[in-house]
Amino acid sequence: MSEQGFLSTVHRNFDRAARYLDYPAGLLDQIKICNSVYRFSFPVRREDGGFDVIEAWRAEHSHHKLPVKGGIRYAPDVNEDEVMALAALMTFKCAIVDVPFGGAKGGVKIDPRKTPVHQLERITRRYTAELVKKGFIGPGIDVPAPDYGTGPREMAWIADTYGQLHNGDVDAFACVTGKPITQGGIHGRKEATGRGVFFGVREALSDEALLKQLGMTAGLGGKRVVVQGLGNVGYHAAKFLVEGGGTLVALSEIEGAIYNPKGLDLEAVMNWRRETKSIKGFPGAETLPSPAAVLELECDVLVPAALENVLHAGNAERVRAKIVAEAANGPTSADAEEILRRRGVVIIPDMYLNAGGVTVSYFEWLKNLSHVRFGRLNKKFEEASTGRLVHAIEMAAGRSLEEAERRQVVRGASEEDLVNSGLEETMIEAFRQIRAVQIKNPKIDDLRTAAFVNAVDKIAVSYMELGIFP
Ligand code: NAD
Repeated sequence: MSEQGFLSTVHRNFDRAARYLDYPAGLLDQIKICNSVYRFSFPVRREDGGFDVIEAWRAEHSHHKLPVKGGIRYAPDVNEDEVMALAALMTFKCAIVDVPFGGAKGGVKIDPRKTPVHQLERITRRYTAELVKKGFIGPGIDVPAPDYGTGPREMAWIADTYGQLHNGDVDAFACVTGKPITQGGIHGRKEATGRGVFFGVREALSDEALLKQLGMTAGLGGKRVVVQGLGNVGYHAAKFLVEGGGTLVALSEIEGAIYNPKGLDLEAVMNWRRETKSIKGFPGAETLPSPAAVLELECDVLVPAALENVLHAGNAERVRAKIVAEAANGPTSADAEEILRRRGVVIIPDMYLNAGGVTVSYFEWLKNLSHVRFGRLNKKFEEASTGRLVHAIEMAAGRSLEEAERRQVVRGASEEDLVNSGLEETMIEAFRQIRAVQIKNPKIDDLRTAAFVNAVDKIAVSYMELGIFP
């Protein structure tokens, strides 16, 4: 943790945005505060017969829409301040991408890398049972998802435990998202946050005013990309940014960092890390002195995708990226933000850029409640009607398509096609809305403040329409 707590950074950003909004102070206070926090401990038996007492949290920041939604973080240094800050970000994130949920977040103070799998399972199941007991989980109440240190496996344990405690509840699968496909998950969720990061960076790199401000050319083609953290979000963000034309010049993980100005082969690095348990020494790349050294490399797009407060007052002056693309939550402290803004660095803020995860989680929740895979009812129907249309055009034109060409044209949308298309539309529309806030308020010269204004405005309207704040 750097110069200040994560929650005070979120509050400072909120307060800056509130200056541009004309709502009663009481309403803004209600939107800012965290509604409820459940802090609890429970014992778990170890293999050697001893016990560990585990500390855990679930924070529900805003109930203006239900259910509330947010990931569960497993980390040795997770704390209440962090969980509340992340829950607040979830509220604003959902509003930005028009996902009808309030914000929440969970934390369990363990090191998942040092905890045996059977122990992780016991902890996850007990954590879930504790949430059930206090009414902090349920398809219409509070719906967790993966975050740092958790993934589909943990989500499957949560769904199973919840299902056992709610025998006969047909909607039980909708109590958690980010599950494996066989356990009610949705195609495209695993990649969603990283894919959303790509869409967001692509939008920024096609915005003429931003490009002019940065003195950059349009498009990802040839842009130097640096990624910190090769977990779910970092790996997928790197993959899609490279597929979109970017050159991945540096990567860092917890054990070290590597650099090659000509570009790194992401899959080869992943294989190297699997084989040697480290990215260090990757053939053809320079090993940097520390994992944090990547943050100071000259590049076009720096993607912090690990943890919060990695850009702080101590290193912000040395950041040489033109764009900081916040894939992680809260990677830039409030002090670092001021330094970067002064130095003309454009920050694409977390609560917009990493909202792809919650967007596709929303699709998964809808799928669980409707009990049918997206595309199942219409795929073949679409293929048949497009086939008839193509046939009519062929007859009129006197020429037939090649078989491969025809298959491509008439192909109906699969679940993954629909998910990716919904995600792309969401990220484009949200970027447009954030930029529209700036056009309306020319004094707002950063995307984070504009994103906050956009989010708080929507939440305020929602309260006003409920008649709570006339
Ligand atoms: P993850 O656990 O899959 O990956 C995080 C990676 O960061 C790990 O591989 C870890 O070893 C690495 N790391 C930790 N400290 C590091 C350091 N100092 N330098 C370099 N690498 C380091 O977690 P994730 O789900 O990818 O989440 C990453 C960030 O994205 C978090 O801030 C999380 O809140 C945010 N986020 C995640 C999702 C999601 O869908 N998973 C959605 C939105 C936001």
